[in-house]
Parts: sequence; C-alpha cells; structure tokens
Amino acid sequence: MAALQSVRGTHDLLDDAVRRHRFVEETAFAVARRYGFGEIVTPIFEFTEVFARTLGDTSDVVTKEMYSFTDRSGDSLTLRPEGTAGVARAFVSNGLAQSLPLKLFYRGPMFRHERPQKGRQRQFHQVGVEVLGVESPLADIEALALAWRVLDALGVADVVTLEINTLGDGDSRAAYRDALVAYLSDFRDRLSEDSRDRLERNPLRILDSKDEGDRAIVADAPRMADSLTPAARDFFAEVTGGLEVLGIPFTVNPRLVRGLDYYCHTAFEFTTDALGAQGTVLAGGRYDGLIAQMGGPKTAGIGWAAGIERLAMLTARTPDPARPVAVIPMGGGDLAGLKVAEDLRAAGLAAEMGFSGNLKKRLARAADRMNARFAVILGEDEGSRGAALVRDLDTGTQDEVPLASLAAWLRERPPSGR
Ligand code: ATP
Ligand code: MG
Repeated sequence: MAALQSVRGTHDLLDDAVRRHRFVEETAFAVARRYGFGEIVTPIFEFTEVFARTLGDTSDVVTKEMYSFTDRSGDSLTLRPEGTAGVARAFVSNGLAQSLPLKLFYRGPMFRHERPQKGRQRQFHQVGVEVLGVESPLADIEALALAWRVLDALGVADVVTLEINTLGDGDSRAAYRDALVAYLSDFRDRLSEDSRDRLERNPLRILDSKDEGDRAIVADAPRMADSLTPAARDFFAEVTGGLEVLGIPFTVNPRLVRGLDYYCHTAFEFTTDALGAQGTVLAGGRYDGLIAQMGGPKTAGIGWAAGIERLAMLTARTPDPARPVAVIPMGGGDLAGLKVAEDLRAAGLAAEMGFSGNLKKRLARAADRMNARFAVILGEDEGSRGAALVRDLDTGTQDEVPLASLAAWLRERPPSGR
C-alpha cells in the first residue's frame, strides 16, 4: 500500500472540479424531470450474482473489470460497475411491476478495474435513466431526445455525434448470429484470442472488438440490416423517423452493438472527437429481456448512462460559485460582526467574516479569496448611527446603509458572476 495516496484510478474532486461535476449531475436531473423522471438511489454494492447474471458472463465488465470481494458473512459482493443491473434488481425486489410505466433517473459512483488513463478511471461517476414497461418505439425516441436535451443544456451538443443502430428482435438476431458465425468461422485462426472465445459464446460482441486484426475482418462481415425481420425493420424506422421529426441529428452505424443477449432493437452512443481515445460520452439501448433474465416478469426497458467525468471535461460551462458578502468588523468588535453576518445568512444571503489584518488586507482578501462583490465594513462612526459602510469591490463605490435594511439593500443588488 502506498500510504497517503488515493488508490490508482480514483480522484479527489476539489473546488472547480466539484462544481463542474455537480453541474453535470444537476443539469441532467433538471432536464430529466421535465420528461417526468423521478430519482432512484440503489446501493453501491450488490450480490455479485446481480451483475454476473445481467451483464452476462462473457462481457469484459464481468470477466475482467469487477471489484468483487467476500464480506465478513461470506457473501460475494461487487461494487457496482454500472447502474442498470441494480435498478432491475430493485424493480424485482420491490415488486414495482404494479407501477408501470416507470421513468427512473440515477447518479453516482461506478467501479471498474480498468487501466486508468484520461477519461478512464476505476471509480468514475454516471448519470443515467431507465424507462421500464414501454414497448413502443416512442420510448426510444423520448429517451434519445432526453439525452440530446441534456447534452444541449451542457453546451456540448455541437461537439457530439449520435450513432444509432438496431439489434433487431429475437428472430432477427438468431438469423444474424448464424450469418455472422458462418462468415467469421472462415477467419477463426486470424481472430484474436478473445474473439475466438466469443465466436461460440457471444459472436455479436466481436463486432465491437478493439483489436486491429479483428476490425479488419469485421469490416466485410454481413450486416444486421440484412437479417432484420419486417417487424424489427419497422421498429427501427419509427425510431429514426421520430428523431427526424424532433430535429435530432444522427448517423446509422451498422457496426454498433451491445453484445448482451437481452439487448434488442435500439442501440446508440453519443461520441466526440474532443476527448481523444475515450470518445463515448453517453451510451444506451433497449433491453426488453433483462428483467425476465433477473427473475422478474417480462418487462420492456430502455435506458442510457453518461460518464460525468467525460462530460465535465467537455463542457465549458461551469456555473460561477455564489459570491458571498464579506463582513469586516473594524471598530465594534468581532462578535458584533459575527451577528451581522448571521443576520444576513438568516435572510438567505451568503456571508463570510474577514477576521484578521488591517482594513486594506481584509478588503483584498474579500475580493481575491472570497470573490465577494460587497464588503460590509463595520466601523465605529457608522456603528454609532446603526449603519454600516458597504463597499462595492468591483467598482470601488461606497454607501452607508442602515443595518436594519442591510439584507434588503444587498438583495436588491445580486452579485453578478465574475
Ligand atoms: P468504453 O468503451 O469507453 O469502455 P463502455 O462501453 O464500457 O465504455 P458503458 O458501460 O456504456 O461504457 O458506460 C456508459 C458511459 O460511462 C461511457 O460512455 C463513459 O462515458 C462512461 N464510462 C464507462 N467506463 C468509464 C471509466 N472507466 N471511466 C470513466 N468513464 C467511464
Ligand atoms: Mg468499458
């Protein structure tokens, strides 16, 4: 153990970074609320089974990335690597099938043992949504519209591209699987070891391989579009048609897959060139088979998750921190100053005390460190008149303001950002 260091791939969030992080999170939730989403909070760890069963035992997350441990009761637990499995588990264990349709928003830390690099951490954070119980493609359109609206509110809509694909229904996928395996079997010896392994267990995932050699082989593979049943084709046409009606730009990427069995129909990713190699900021899809796979009633589902760190790197917008009022007691004693600050806080204003140094030093500190707009100087002369001297630190102008009306006076002059 390297003492006094954070664990590799984990980060402390300080100051601006926290503000940007919260801005992403709050913006996403504020937009989701406009779409009728409520929030769900599930535990940060679950029985390992919850993830192993939902993510599939061939996925990278399950085979290589999970933080699993045996607790003191001998149970195998896992720090959640993603949000959907926990939400699905909560749906089943709370018997929520009675309250469909459900629109749920979540946020929080996720854990994956990956090689840390820019935009890839071992503890990272996501915001995400799940819509449960809606089979219609309207739910896909609305989930995509929400994603787009969130990215727009963060000011990043013009640097992301929506890539979308269909994985079809069960029959389409069975037909495609056969066609794909027939094609890939001719290249078996040239596939990467991982992909050779996937050939039997989960061939669709080979389309997603990052291995150069695999990619070259995959480039000429048959396309899902040619195996779609008419119903699956119609479903996808409704989704893309809906995006057109709403004016949401997209490109169809026939190689985009989510390789797990329970995924169907719509799969999508919002990607950017602005972050280097880790270019996917938001990803999701339809998972009509998931809840049943967890042992619940057959329930349609669609959702997405976005990486907060990647979005925070991308957004130029950071809300200015609130600019407090600086209270500077000069003549009347520090406790009198504390009382004035306390009265301002009780009136809903942010106030901080400048305790030490001469007036000049305290004013400089108020302006630089606190980023205050106004300094309330409590001098003896003004004090004897029940007033304070209020200095505008941006302009240098001063006014004498009665203490009784100080809060009201300050409230009429909201501190602009700086
Ligand atoms: P990638 O291909 O980058 O590994 P993924 O397919 O594993 O992504 P998802 O499981 O779909 O990612 O998670 C959704 C989003 O969460 C990603 O698009 C990304 O923004 C973010 N994300 C995933 N893993 C990490 C990580 N290790 N560090 C930071 N953000 C991450
Ligand atoms: Mg990954």
